Amino acid sequence: MRDTTKHQGLRNQLATVLQAKGITDEKVLMAVRKIPRHLFMDSSFEAHAYQDKAFPIAAEQTISQPYTVAFQTETLEVLPGDKVLEIGTGSGYQTAVLLEMNAEVYSIERQHELFKKTSLFLPKLGYKPKKLIFGDGYKGLADEAPFDKIIVTAGAPFVPKMLLGQLKIGGRMLIPVGKSTQIMTLFIRKSAKEFEKHELGNFRFVPMLEKKN
Ligand code: SAH
Repeated sequence: MRDTTKHQGLRNQLATVLQAKGITDEKVLMAVRKIPRHLFMDSSFEAHAYQDKAFPIAAEQTISQPYTVAFQTETLEVLPGDKVLEIGTGSGYQTAVLLEMNAEVYSIERQHELFKKTSLFLPKLGYKPKKLIFGDGYKGLADEAPFDKIIVTAGAPFVPKMLLGQLKIGGRMLIPVGKSTQIMTLFIRKSAKEFEKHELGNFRFVPMLEKKN
């Protein structure tokens, strides 16, 4: 697959749609205009790549809806140089958006097929995360903690304590919490023991699973 001026036009339209839905962060909109989302998907979905919808990728997983990716990125308030932990690498699209924010990205994926595919794919587009890890996101990444920001891109049945513990003081963690639908929940770490919690509306994600296949 190639990236053409037609794709560029569709990306510009998608950014306009996201703006109409309330996304205001210009850096996030720039990332949407820049990243060739169709290349992150199976070629049979190419015609739909710039609709504001989630689509199947491999291993029964999905590439998140562009609005969701934009909303999560904007809400995290990613600053250049931030150390960001992502749970659920999936297609790598959200990873690419975080890299466009000039973050240092660590991302964990539990499906080996996706981990392998995305590890090979991202560098081809020039995207270089600090680390892509095949493992269990519930455990986070103790060796690299603490993180400025943590973003969970699968629906978590509960808030994993280990992830909260890996957040810097002043850091933000965004996680969709719930079983069939999820409430997007923002935690801001105020001190070693205190977290501020904000609930930011309903979303629908594939589940964050506990054991590896
Ligand atoms: N950010 C991705 C979203 C993919 S969907 C994208 O934009 O493409 C969620 C991903 O989370 C899936 O790839 C799924 O395999 C992964 N996932 C589910 N449970 C996980 C866990 N415990 N640890 C790490 N990844 C997990």
